[in-house]
Amino acid sequence: MALFALLLIVPSLLEPPHATYSARPVVPFDTAEGKLLALRPLGDLMERDIDDLARSLEYRLGVDVTLLPPLPIPPEARDPATGHVVADRLLNWMFATRPDDAWRYVAVTSDPLQTGDAHSLYGYANAVDHVAVLTTFHFEAGLHSTDRLERALARDKLARAAVHEMAHTLGLDHCEHDLCLMQRVIPLDRLDTRTSLCHDCIQRLDRALATPNDPWREQLDLGDSFFHRRYYTRALHHYDLAKALLTPHDDPRALSQVENRIGASLLSMQIVAEGEQNIRRAIDLDPAAPQPHYNLAIVYAYAGERALAQEELERGMALDQDPVSRHGFAGRFLLDILDDPDAAAAHLRAYAAAGGDSPYLLEALDTLSRPGAVLFTHGEVEVIHATW
Ligand SMILES: [Zn+2]
Ligand SMILES: [Zn+2]
Repeated sequence: MALFALLLIVPSLLEPPHATYSARPVVPFDTAEGKLLALRPLGDLMERDIDDLARSLEYRLGVDVTLLPPLPIPPEARDPATGHVVADRLLNWMFATRPDDAWRYVAVTSDPLQTGDAHSLYGYANAVDHVAVLTTFHFEAGLHSTDRLERALARDKLARAAVHEMAHTLGLDHCEHDLCLMQRVIPLDRLDTRTSLCHDCIQRLDRALATPNDPWREQLDLGDSFFHRRYYTRALHHYDLAKALLTPHDDPRALSQVENRIGASLLSMQIVAEGEQNIRRAIDLDPAAPQPHYNLAIVYAYAGERALAQEELERGMALDQDPVSRHGFAGRFLLDILDDPDAAAAHLRAYAAAGGDSPYLLEALDTLSRPGAVLFTHGEVEVIHATW
């Protein structure tokens, strides 16, 4: 221990004094251009704390922060019984109202945040939707203190919590390293200089921040988030924007992904003929992609062409390397669209065996597997005997 301390201290004592100092704060990350974080105060907050948080995030992450006008906490984010702010509801509201030009969107509130099983949160983030919320609730005593040092310490805690949530929106997961800022649980009295990003997390964050923005990919991701919420019109809007950002010279696989998603959105809105054109274009652009074949199977099923639907399903499955995706789609398609529960059950079992975890599909499998049901597996027939 002493040896390490010596190695650390002696060279710095031998260094000549610095001749120049940079006027700008030293940003630890090599952040690419155009990363605009939109910060939204919600409810009762002190302007000076929010200003300080904005500056602090610019300094700590090297991103541009724009402060949005404050808004009241949306009523739909509250639990009607308790009146408490439910973090995932608030994130849903934020996602639906996010500013178009925001690269990341973070809200700050002074209300306590809760989710289903957690009641003392500093913040909550959705990595896919790129939104996060923070609360000043646990730091209020310090933020309102008349002691300058106490206030500074409380603001530092808030900024650390903000970096943790921002890192989630950049794809970082929780970290097992002791004293890392990305630990799942950090005691309030340890959320200070003793708790910083570990070396691995700094590397991950640096990679994420240094990656240049990829506008078409961002529009695609936004479209996907709307699509999964079944907001098909808004999904289509973002897929169209993604398409407009690509040229015919771009990677045909990228063009195929966009065409396929436009087709899937149109199909979901029951605009089948137009959707089919996009899906066929997606297949022409990237014949090796399984998803457009799956969607074409749906088109055939809608038209009552069962044999062709089955053929496209098999074509897609033969191209699909991922057993969870392959059997998950086949199970759902056979169950919900072709109405063939026996064939669906075999795929759902393969799906579960491969580690698929969709509650909807596992529940369907459970129902189909009740004693008395007849199940088929590939190449053989298996009969489950009734036990009652
Ligand atoms: Zn976390
Ligand atoms: Zn870490």
